[in-house]
Amino acid sequence: MIIAIDGPAGAGKSTVAKLLARKMGFLYIDTGAMYRALTLKALENSIDVENSELMSALAHNTGIDLINNADGSLKVLLDGCDVSKEIREPRITKFVSLVAKIKGVRDVMLENQRRLGKGQNSILDGRDIGTVVFPDAEKKFYIDANFQERVSRRHKELIGLGQKISAADVEMDLSNRDKIDSTREVAPLKKADDAIYIDTTKLTIEEVVAKLFQEINR
Ligand code: C5P
Repeated sequence: MIIAIDGPAGAGKSTVAKLLARKMGFLYIDTGAMYRALTLKALENSIDVENSELMSALAHNTGIDLINNADGSLKVLLDGCDVSKEIREPRITKFVSLVAKIKGVRDVMLENQRRLGKGQNSILDGRDIGTVVFPDAEKKFYIDANFQERVSRRHKELIGLGQKISAADVEMDLSNRDKIDSTREVAPLKKADDAIYIDTTKLTIEEVVAKLFQEINR
């Protein structure tokens, strides 16, 4: 069974997907982490992230693996090295949407994501899972929250990770990524027609997990 969870940054997708995967014994596939890992490799190799040809070639020559740790956390391997922490740094967040709009990059990611999820009970979260990666997913959700709430959640999360970042910077990042992710030509962020829309603005994480669980078992 494939469960697709899409939505904008800061809506709570990954927290909910991780908890739900643990509760149901499903594999959790954080597709945003894959774009982040490729962005990290480009920056470390001083490759222009807006150069489609170079970035597509880089995607072809890069190994990205996701490992579900026993404690529910996720390990992200870039060419065999653990980059779970680095990929959350602001320098990556700043450029990841530019990388993710490149068609050649998305083609490689799409193939990888299908390979990882196929034939297994999996929960994937991202922007195009229900629309493009697994359009036949058994359950699809679109998780949303109002902009200020998303900013506040993401700010708290980053502070919790030990980053020194202002709410104003988080606000700028989210509005920038929302815009690029939802207006790009290839696989833009949008709700699949058959996805269940959930506004999490006034809900706790536990309430969202319970809601999804109920829908899945319906
Ligand atoms: O989910 P997260 O915020 O970590 O994703 C980082 C970025 O990766 C998004 O802002 C988006 O540009 C890109 N992304 C995407 N398609 C996905 C998952 C993430 O374009 N399925």
